[in-house]
Amino acid sequence: MKLINTALLAQQPQSQKNKKGRFYNPSRLHLVPQRELFKWLLRRHRYLPKPIRFPLVTTSNTQVLSAPLKAPLLTWIGHSTFLLRHRDIALLTDPVFSRWVSPVQGVGPKRSTPPALQVEALPTITAVFISHNHYDHLDKNSVLALFQRFGNALQWFVPLGVKAWFTKLGIHNVVELDWWQSAEVQGLRCHFLPAQHFSGRTLSDSYKTLWGSWLIDMPDFRCYFAGDTGYHAELFGTIGGVFPDIDLALLPIGAYNPRELMRNMHINPEEAVSIHQHLGAALSVGMHWGSFQLTDEPMDEPPQRLATALTQQGISADKFIVMEHGEVLEITLKQVANHEQ
Ligand code: ZN
Ligand code: ZN
Repeated sequence: MKLINTALLAQQPQSQKNKKGRFYNPSRLHLVPQRELFKWLLRRHRYLPKPIRFPLVTTSNTQVLSAPLKAPLLTWIGHSTFLLRHRDIALLTDPVFSRWVSPVQGVGPKRSTPPALQVEALPTITAVFISHNHYDHLDKNSVLALFQRFGNALQWFVPLGVKAWFTKLGIHNVVELDWWQSAEVQGLRCHFLPAQHFSGRTLSDSYKTLWGSWLIDMPDFRCYFAGDTGYHAELFGTIGGVFPDIDLALLPIGAYNPRELMRNMHINPEEAVSIHQHLGAALSVGMHWGSFQLTDEPMDEPPQRLATALTQQGISADKFIVMEHGEVLEITLKQVANHEQ
């Protein structure tokens, strides 16, 4: 595996806030007027497509989850929640196990496909990565259930400004990072990187905590988790330039319609394929679809559009895949083979 381009990394700017304490996007783009988003939220129940319950793969049994590994093992729990095991490390991304993703259970977007694993069924988790504080990525009940099960041994990695939310819950083993900063846990170097998105859990706190993506670097395995993002060719080109040889990229492919509202904050499948290329990832896996009806496109549309986009952009279908809920995927590491030559 190629080394990180530290000279390029050192040139990257930290995040910046305006006078009202709200963070900017790397592009300085203002995503969409809040007023327009609320208007859409209020009227969309009239025409939202029917939620779909996708099948759950049940082969992700305890044996698969606890057996010693030959290669990194990825399980899609649903939405942006993945379990990634490699060597003696087990990680979670944006863990959400709840039925609703909103301030109050019983209200808001409801899960249509159950999580493929419950917290009790997880192996011992080393670290959790949070991309931003939207309800479909940072869920209080799920965080508390993980803390109850693993306690202070569990390491949390969060964006700048999100640590205070954990402190209020009595959770203190939290590393908070700015864009392009990194930290280490058990031989695992984690870099927090920008994304084009926003944050917020109330009517008044949008942009007040940071949002972003994560690059998880192990000696023989490099994984990128994009969180939520709009399209920004230069940003993803830079990430790919700083971190060559990404083995696995987890990229959102859903929640893109109505396009005029979502364009700057959520990529569509065609843009996800472009980002896969900017990053130079060996393999990408689509996420942020299939579990909650969040936006106006039918829930089964993202994988279909992904397949078409791959054909149109001349990329082999096995380079950017979607998994079934609960599917377990062994990641082939080409550099292990190179290393052993
Ligand atoms: Zn979001
Ligand atoms: Zn989201």
